[in-house]
Amino acid sequence: MSEFLNRLDAPISPRAYRGRVLHALNAEESCYWQDGGLLVDSEGRIAACNDWAALEKSNRLGGFEVVSLPPNALMVPGFVDLHVHLPQMEVAGCQEANLLSWLERHIFSAEARFADAAHAQAVSRWFFGELLKNGTTTAAVFLTSHNDATRIAFETALALGNRVVMGQNLMDVNAPDALLKPAPQMLAETEAHCEQWHGRDRGRIQYAWMPRFAITSSEALLAGIGQLRQKYPDVYLHTHLSEQLGEIEAVRAQFPWATDYTDVYQRFGLLAPKTILAHGIHLSDDELGRIHVAESALAHCPCSNFFLKSGRFRLLDVLARRLRFGLGSDVGAGPELSMFKVMKDAQFMQADALVSLQSLFYAATLGGARALLQEDRIGNFEPGKEADFLVLDPLGKSCMALPGGEAGSLDAQSVAQNDPEGILSPLVYMGDERLVRATYVRGRNVYGNSGA
Ligand SMILES: [Zn+2]
Repeated sequence: MSEFLNRLDAPISPRAYRGRVLHALNAEESCYWQDGGLLVDSEGRIAACNDWAALEKSNRLGGFEVVSLPPNALMVPGFVDLHVHLPQMEVAGCQEANLLSWLERHIFSAEARFADAAHAQAVSRWFFGELLKNGTTTAAVFLTSHNDATRIAFETALALGNRVVMGQNLMDVNAPDALLKPAPQMLAETEAHCEQWHGRDRGRIQYAWMPRFAITSSEALLAGIGQLRQKYPDVYLHTHLSEQLGEIEAVRAQFPWATDYTDVYQRFGLLAPKTILAHGIHLSDDELGRIHVAESALAHCPCSNFFLKSGRFRLLDVLARRLRFGLGSDVGAGPELSMFKVMKDAQFMQADALVSLQSLFYAATLGGARALLQEDRIGNFEPGKEADFLVLDPLGKSCMALPGGEAGSLDAQSVAQNDPEGILSPLVYMGDERLVRATYVRGRNVYGNSGA
């Protein structure tokens, strides 16, 4: 893998990518240029992003090699997948009646196979490669509880160029013995991984404390994680919360002193700004309010919620309260890694309300970065940020092209009118990984070919 490492570390030649550009400026507004330019410096940072004519007029192009993209190409920021499970890739799409029986029948046995380092290696390479192929440049990833498999996942992400927030899966009760370890051992192992990986490659690799959920955690384990969180305030915490009613019942029986599910995590000091809570479907107003006050972020995973029939995320309430949230594929309860499909299902999940396309695009890019408190580094094309971007080819999917090859719905009157919502609509409803021609992380080409 050393050739990849060298490629990511070495300076690159400054480039000016010329083509169509679309990126979110904030939750309400995107910016689109039909003939735009994205200037990437030798460090892989964005030097400028603007209309091409404006860049020429202000003499910004000096020292940059011009890369003219094919006529239909569209540059967008890399996607942020805020919740996904590496060891579940091979068992995606296994139908089951509910969350707890799905874990028992399909998931725990798949995770147990990661005791085999060769298996962990093969799935890690497949998983991180597929993320880049799908245009996901940043992912918050669940692993297994195995020491070697955890190390292998970090080595692979470091080598292939993914931007990650992840850590060892922590479980000490209520799962098969092959996946459990005593709390002191789990805590010691995860702290050692954190010391080794957190902040690697100038912050591209970030560590997270990752108790699976309350049910597989003893109070001793949760208390220990709370102490680690205090000792390392810069490290993330990522777990599941309030996904299904049967799960909530089990949590109530296991932690009878807690006022609700959120209270279990709160009592042990696990709610903080760098906490990511996956799902959060059946939360009361009071729980949403406490999560807001703690400044924790929610990961909405609509494909998974449809698949396991978990219920409907309160997206409109979350938007109205301005909680930080992002979108997650939740593979393998979500069947696919494509964030295009996650955006579409987030729309379809709200059966009686129309969600703005802008807010979905924001959630999959800059909103996800903000959920991770990395909006100063990634998420859009503001100068100074690291250049994580995709070159999309809207003709990559045949049903989006007219017979004869010219573009269909994407290039209708909306383009002529410079209307970002018009560009977004076919991307959200019809997009998938076939549109992703090339993926760049920190200015480095980590997947595909731009076609320039
Ligand atoms: Zn999950």
